Amino acid sequence: MADTNMPHVSEQGRGDKELTTLRLNLREQFAEFLKKKMYRNTQERYKVLDRIAALDKHFNADELYIHMSLLGDRISRATIYSTLDLLTACGILVKHTFQGDSAHYELTSRKPHHDHLICTECKRIVEFNLDSMREIQTAVASTYGLNALSHSLQIFGVCDDPMHCEHKQHSPAV
Ligand SMILES: [Zn+2]
Ligand SMILES: [Zn+2]
Repeated sequence: MADTNMPHVSEQGRGDKELTTLRLNLREQFAEFLKKKMYRNTQERYKVLDRIAALDKHFNADELYIHMSLLGDRISRATIYSTLDLLTACGILVKHTFQGDSAHYELTSRKPHHDHLICTECKRIVEFNLDSMREIQTAVASTYGLNALSHSLQIFGVCDDPMHCEHKQHSPAV
């Protein structure tokens, strides 16, 4: 798919080539989903997806809106919200709700399965992946007669070192 808006600078540390491939793959996946569901295939939706592809972290809708505005994209919050819903329904994004906080999203393809630690003071999100979590998942599920497919664990706490709780500074997600 031709994309005349492809930026020439790399965004957020992904290599240009890697990012281009990722964007093309995600666009293809999204286009297929939109077609199947008979949703409109608008350029704004692809623009949102392109920006998300470059974000190698969690973000919420407001952070994405600010991020895109700073990059000069003219996009409404409503489009961002509806596109995030579509991208989640299509499996491109995973949506996390961390305790009453606004929903956070991340690319499904970003990382293999991981769980989250969240500082309730500064909202810092740490990702971890422990083999023992998978063993616990299997053991607990089999105790109750289930074949475990997946799990989602969120641990809430506060940073050890209050100096690293940068609650008043920029959001850690974007
Ligand atoms: Zn994560
Ligand atoms: Zn903290």
